[in-house]
Amino acid sequence: MHIYDYLIVGAGLFGSVFARELTDAGFKCLIIDKRPHTGGNVYTEKREGIDVHMYGPHIFHTSDDRIWAYVNRFTKFNHYVNRPKVYYKGKIYSFPINLFTLYQLYGVKTPAEAQKKLEEVKVPIKNPKNLEEWVLSQVGQEIYEIFIKGYTMKQWMCDPKELPTFIIRRLPIRLTFDDNYFNDCYQGIPVEGYTKMMERLQAGIEVRLNTDYFANKEYFDGTARKVVFTGKIDEFFGYRFGELEYRTLRFEHEMHKGDYQGNAIINYTEYEIPYTRICEHKHFTFGQQEHTIITKEYPEAWSRGKEPYYPINNERNNKIYKQYATLSEELKDKYIFGGRLAEYKYYDMHQVIGSALAKAKKEIEFQKSTCS
Ligand code: UDP
Repeated sequence: MHIYDYLIVGAGLFGSVFARELTDAGFKCLIIDKRPHTGGNVYTEKREGIDVHMYGPHIFHTSDDRIWAYVNRFTKFNHYVNRPKVYYKGKIYSFPINLFTLYQLYGVKTPAEAQKKLEEVKVPIKNPKNLEEWVLSQVGQEIYEIFIKGYTMKQWMCDPKELPTFIIRRLPIRLTFDDNYFNDCYQGIPVEGYTKMMERLQAGIEVRLNTDYFANKEYFDGTARKVVFTGKIDEFFGYRFGELEYRTLRFEHEMHKGDYQGNAIINYTEYEIPYTRICEHKHFTFGQQEHTIITKEYPEAWSRGKEPYYPINNERNNKIYKQYATLSEELKDKYIFGGRLAEYKYYDMHQVIGSALAKAKKEIEFQKSTCS
């Protein structure tokens, strides 16, 4: 006899949304997480009255009305719009690349002048096959060197020629003065921090922290009719088809007086500076505190035991992932896999929520069909 209908492994966004939906449909869920806190990587911690994004800056954005309405059930969002700046060799640039960036670089003042300049500097590459070729074909060598090359080499620890274009295509290039990092209709930061939002999402659901699924897998599998697994899919299957690769990060937090950099995010695109960006958390909520907390983000090589942040969706890894995905299909009567790690996808938050809502809906429909 099972105690729960669903055991959810991982208290991040996928697990929490899935648990919310199944709970509201009348099923009994238990969420477990090996970390001492809830929320996965969206976790924010209050320090000196400031919500610190402990696993890197998370800016919520979506164009999906349904997902925006959904998250607004659990928190209020402020009107924060992400407008990062780039620091390169002692100068600050407007970013993502927009008309003001092109003005700073080339003195062009209108969209037509900017267009003409870009036509001059673009490298003619017909079918760009990798990240470097794609950027060169859009904006040319100089912009590539200042904004993209060093940052990308630090972040991904490889030659940008070895990276797929989709990583960079999410960044807009605009010939207007619009410097919003995202093209989405909705954007903001939870006014009381992500942790509060996650706690509301999990309201009325049993959550056990400091609880390692793999330390007692057989026992946990026995507690529920189905298991929703949101961790690393290769670990779940004992790495039998090989290990999937990730990028990881190290965060260094510092406290300072006053205002450190006047913006939430400044990217350091020079290769010689070891961190990729500095995040000043109080600017996410327009904080006026006397103190400030900043976080320097250092990319690091990943090895088992470190936190996996970004899946590296190259050919090798995608092939391995496919084998795990095929195997997971065979186990679908007992296990559901979802989220950035279990689906091995470079998801943003709204996409994780979309995936969780879709899988929860399918599951609820399945349960209804077997009951009737
Ligand atoms: N990128 C860059 N320079 C920047 C910011 C981003 O070259 O100043 C590239 C880099 O390759 C990065 C990708 O664009 O991996 C996507 O950046 P984004 O900010 O969307 O990544 P995330 O916020 O998920 O780390």
